[in-house]
Amino acid sequence: MKCRSAWMILLSLCLTACTGTVGGVAQPVDPTLVAGLEITDGPSGLKPGVLDAGLPVDGGDGGEIDRLAANAVADVQRYWREHLPAVFKRDFRPLASLVSYDSAGRGRKICGTSTAGLVNAFYCAGQDVVAWDRGELLPMLNDSIGQAAVMAVLAHEIGHAVQFRLGLPAATPSIVKEQQADCYTGSYLRWVAEGKSPMFQVSTGRGLNEVLTALFQIRDSAGVAFDDDSAHGNAFDRVSAFQFGFTDGPARCAEIDEREVEGRSTQGAADERAAAENVRLDDRQALADLTTSLRQAFRLAAAPPTLTTGAACGVTAEDALASYCSESNQINLDLDGLVRIGTPPRRGRQGGIGDFAAFAEVASRYTLAVQQEGGFRLDGPVAAQRTACLTGFWASTIVDGGALTLSPGDLDEAIAEMLTRNSLIAADVRGRTLPAGFARVAAFRDGFSSGSQSTCGDKYR
Ligand SMILES: [Zn+2]
Repeated sequence: MKCRSAWMILLSLCLTACTGTVGGVAQPVDPTLVAGLEITDGPSGLKPGVLDAGLPVDGGDGGEIDRLAANAVADVQRYWREHLPAVFKRDFRPLASLVSYDSAGRGRKICGTSTAGLVNAFYCAGQDVVAWDRGELLPMLNDSIGQAAVMAVLAHEIGHAVQFRLGLPAATPSIVKEQQADCYTGSYLRWVAEGKSPMFQVSTGRGLNEVLTALFQIRDSAGVAFDDDSAHGNAFDRVSAFQFGFTDGPARCAEIDEREVEGRSTQGAADERAAAENVRLDDRQALADLTTSLRQAFRLAAAPPTLTTGAACGVTAEDALASYCSESNQINLDLDGLVRIGTPPRRGRQGGIGDFAAFAEVASRYTLAVQQEGGFRLDGPVAAQRTACLTGFWASTIVDGGALTLSPGDLDEAIAEMLTRNSLIAADVRGRTLPAGFARVAAFRDGFSSGSQSTCGDKYR
């Protein structure tokens, strides 16, 4: 986040997606569904009692992680055995081999790369092999997030194998390959979520939250350009690609090319110092700039709400850090709490998320005044979706500067906020958040990428 007072001029983060207007009438989105599927919160991962697929693993130790990984590979390959012919008219040839290694071990060469110290999972086209680190990467994802994170990583790597089979040129920019692989991950997980996998399950609430959290954790750090050789995408772009695949299927993924990515990528090449900039919400200038940006984004006929500190008003969530009081037309802020979530963790220490998470929480409450003036209901799940959408729209208005300007990493902070249990960005007037992280992020992205306030009212009604 950058205030007007800052001196640096950022590159434009958003190349074309910000100014679009929307033609036609948007179809309303059902808040009880995730991309058309019912919201579920059951366990995710291997179904209990399934037999191992028995794929040979080169270098494995026969432990639980290798078992999980090999079964995930078998399952993803089963998906492609059905879908490569059905969608792309090609037969799917299984991977030539799977390799498990321990990044803490002595290391071996795979496609010319030593695995010593390589905390990673990867696909190498030269030997048509998928390899994973069973020592650190997969156990870390499995323990800190869940089995769905491991499924997502292997589905991503096999997504690269699919590209190779579809003949994507090797010289294709890294970001295009990575976006496609994230998208293919989404299409595979859709199949699992629909109950079509014989071995795995994933719930659309908690399970997809785990997947999105995994994409968030392995995002590019702020300041990596989207056309960098090694670019995988920031969390916002990665989650977007995943959602395309989940919602629209694998044909959509193959359409991702350089032009399409350039048109919507939010990953600007920005100065490192800009990335490090973090504005505190208890700074008077910051609050004034936030107010200005909101008043410019939303033209209200009535008096705009004022930001003030004070006890939460009318919320059921105990720890809501901001609330909208329609009677007094005030937004009451818990400034200490907002500064806490607005301060990113320092090396080795606990911390919050980052400034944009705090700013967006306040902005989300402001959109409630906008909705009230528009005659919309302020409570219930549709209001929560509309709030996320309008907050995304507000974010689209500060891409190119003004009172506030987005910094690299800001949108990723919004994603992180929306994956917390009590996300306020996607909450109604009472602070009740949408149950599925997928739906929260999808609504925010709708507002951001359409750059249109009316889209939010049309789609979320
Ligand atoms: Zn990749």
